[in-house]
Amino acid sequence: MRFFLEDVAAVDDEVTLSPSDSRHLSRALRRTVGDKITVVSANRVFEAELTQVGDTVRARLLAELAAYSEAPLNLILLQGLAKGERMEIVIQKAVELGVSRIVPLALERSVIRLTGDKAEAKRARWQKIADAAAKQCGRTRLVEIAPVQGLAEALAALPPDCRVLMPWEEADGHTVGVALSEALAEAAPAACAVIIGPEGGLAAAEAELAAARGARLVTLGKRILRTETAAIAVLSIVMYQWGDLNGREV
Ligand code: SAH
Repeated sequence: MRFFLEDVAAVDDEVTLSPSDSRHLSRALRRTVGDKITVVSANRVFEAELTQVGDTVRARLLAELAAYSEAPLNLILLQGLAKGERMEIVIQKAVELGVSRIVPLALERSVIRLTGDKAEAKRARWQKIADAAAKQCGRTRLVEIAPVQGLAEALAALPPDCRVLMPWEEADGHTVGVALSEALAEAAPAACAVIIGPEGGLAAAEAELAAARGARLVTLGKRILRTETAAIAVLSIVMYQWGDLNGREV
């Protein structure tokens, strides 16, 4: 959560928050001295530490963060486990496109299987790739790579009211599923998850499971895209329509 200051402030300044922000921080959020908050002053973003809490809250600005660069859409990628390089490309590009979280999915037709120590070693490597991408493209926060998990588990962990889109190569847009354009014609949600199948594609049972949990099966048209192409294309399109990849100020 960010707190906006009326005054122009700089690193090392001690600032006073508005009475309503002060009440919110100390009563509703129950923050205490020493807690960190994010403060925005004249379009600059700072990390700040609370120095006084109560009816009046004060904070010292510790460091300036890169200009705030997060999308208004909480976009989550559930990516079917794909072979080495493909997974890494997807992770790097997804972070650049602004996703908030990436969940590697162990699916029926995933060619690679990852369990135990191997899965954790991979996750750590992917996390490094994500962190490097976040820094490189100027994000204001890092993107968490979740542990490898199954589809049901990943669906259950999505935030409430999360719109779920599952591009399925066997959806034809008429009898099963809808065109992506149709799914995106609806008003922007606060959160959206995109589920992409691995190289081997999504099994019908997986599409059924997701659909039963509220996912919309969507078609991307007649050409079959590789898993990494599908992920990058759909994230770009969703971020354009519902997020901030369109250059409009939000
Ligand atoms: N091996 C499969 C294709 C998998 S493509 C086959 O040959 O049929 C990998 C993933 O990208 C798919 O599971 C799906 O999530 C997405 N995808 C690729 N092309 C698509 C399309 N035309 N429509 C919907 N989803 C698509």
